[in-house]
Amino acid sequence: MAAIAFIGLGNMGSPMARNLLKAGFQVNVYDINAEAARKLEKEGATVASSLKAAVTGADTVITMLPAGQHVHDVYLGPKGQPEAGLLNLVSSGTFLIDSSTIDPATAKEVASHALQHQLEFVDAPVSGGVAGAEAGTLTFIVGGTDAAFHRAEMVLKHAGKNIFHAGPAGAGQMAKICNNLMLAVQMAGACEAINLGMENGLDPKVLSDIMLQSSGRNWVLELYNPCPGVMENAPASKGYQPGFMSKLMLKDLGLGMDAALQSQTAVPMGALARNLYAFHNANGNEQRDFSSLFEFYHGEVKQ
Ligand code: NAD
Repeated sequence: MAAIAFIGLGNMGSPMARNLLKAGFQVNVYDINAEAARKLEKEGATVASSLKAAVTGADTVITMLPAGQHVHDVYLGPKGQPEAGLLNLVSSGTFLIDSSTIDPATAKEVASHALQHQLEFVDAPVSGGVAGAEAGTLTFIVGGTDAAFHRAEMVLKHAGKNIFHAGPAGAGQMAKICNNLMLAVQMAGACEAINLGMENGLDPKVLSDIMLQSSGRNWVLELYNPCPGVMENAPASKGYQPGFMSKLMLKDLGLGMDAALQSQTAVPMGALARNLYAFHNANGNEQRDFSSLFEFYHGEVKQ
């Protein structure tokens, strides 16, 4: 079976790497936080002490990093050190997949540098959250050539359920940014509606059940209810442990604003959601799950 180097083993990367191990791949893991990588050792992963060691012998590399700057530095090397970048460390023919959510411009830049090195690269951000990563049911949204998309499918089907080809390099990121803008608006809407109901005497679980069978139904209500105690396994019922950190949602909404500025597109709801998350994060919620926005409306709920 082929060998995969998996770089970035945070909330999403760890369960994704675990599913690839279960599928029978040899998986070399590397994270600047050595502890994050070591957790996968007992499940069969080979823990690498450097980026170079991780990609040695791997025919596919998957990165799952926080933001564009990390992806830039990992693939192209930190400023003035291109020799330290993945593109100079992998052997010829290695296939490169970045599943982080980043700006389309960086995705296109990495794809174009990869081409100069005669390497194939796709942007393949994901949707589905930690639960989707654990269950292997993620949606992958791929940007790249037709050939690269088909090559990506062969690997990504072991970590996800739906794999879409959004278009050329960067298109996966653009589609993901649009999706997360809508997710943030839905999250803010769910927080607002549930809080309004509670302030007017409704039970949040009863109200949520009603909205789930009514026209307000959406992904947040189905899988990620932001009110503590309504949904047993949601981050809201586990002290807002991430999950998906509020600081990452603010990053994604910023990517949406950048795209809107470039295309001169009106995004009033996204802009409002970005400002809500900027306030929320400034109040010390950066590392908490993004559904903790509920407290912005309601304050703390004693369970
Ligand atoms: P995270 O912060 O939990 O994990 C990122 C990992 O990357 C960390 O372990 C960090 O140590 C590591 N890292 C940073 N720089 C590195 C480097 N130079 N080399 C090696 N490792 C490095 O973040 P996450 O929640 O796993 O999210 C990862 C990406 O996926 C983000 O772009 C996020 O927006 C996106 N995403 C997250 C979710 C979610 O629900 N958490 C869902 C969809 C998409």
